[in-house]
Amino acid sequence: MSSPADPDAPQRLFLALWPEETERRQLADLAANVAGRRRVRDDNLHLTLVFLGATVAARLAEYKAVLADLAVPALELTLDRYGYWPQPRILWLGSSHTPPELYELVADLHRRLRGCGFTPERRAFQAHVTLARKFPGPAPAQPPAAPVSWLIRDIALVESLHEEGGARYRVLRRWPGLG
Ligand code: ATP
Ligand code: MG
Repeated sequence: MSSPADPDAPQRLFLALWPEETERRQLADLAANVAGRRRVRDDNLHLTLVFLGATVAARLAEYKAVLADLAVPALELTLDRYGYWPQPRILWLGSSHTPPELYELVADLHRRLRGCGFTPERRAFQAHVTLARKFPGPAPAQPPAAPVSWLIRDIALVESLHEEGGARYRVLRRWPGLG
């Protein structure tokens, strides 16, 4: 487990789409409506692109180097459907039309990270925002009344901190760094 007292400890990291305030509020409202108290904390809502896992500082420096000139196409992701994975008991929000550019972005990330010795997941990328864990299921029968329209301009490098109250995430930096 990482701690500020131990600079050599690996950090648990992932690359994600990190919602701005407007999208975050819409996602939080949906989560509250469909999952009540089982919902993911508002400030934890995100969409994972690549899970990097435990990462030492030297490796992180390599990742930052290969991501330095990453281009993120401006794209619009429409989150308009619920899904449920019974095994992890996860309720999620996804898209019935994930833009091809998002798959291409993930493939580009994989290519770059492979150059540093990272092995991407075998499972195909499925764009989803986890709304609730330990959710009994099934997913709501009706899609969200108003889809969440998410304008994407950058990606975030995020640290996952496991604390007493559960996971908390901290954005370390963003690409392409346009703010
Ligand atoms: P917790 O593990 O405490 O339930 P969490 O799953 O939110 O909390 P992490 O396990 O650190 O926190 O995961 C961070 C993000 O990466 C989440 O979006 C999670 O779904 C995703 N993730 C975690 N492990 C993997 C994995 N092996 N493959 C793909 N994505 C993963
Ligand atoms: Mg986890």
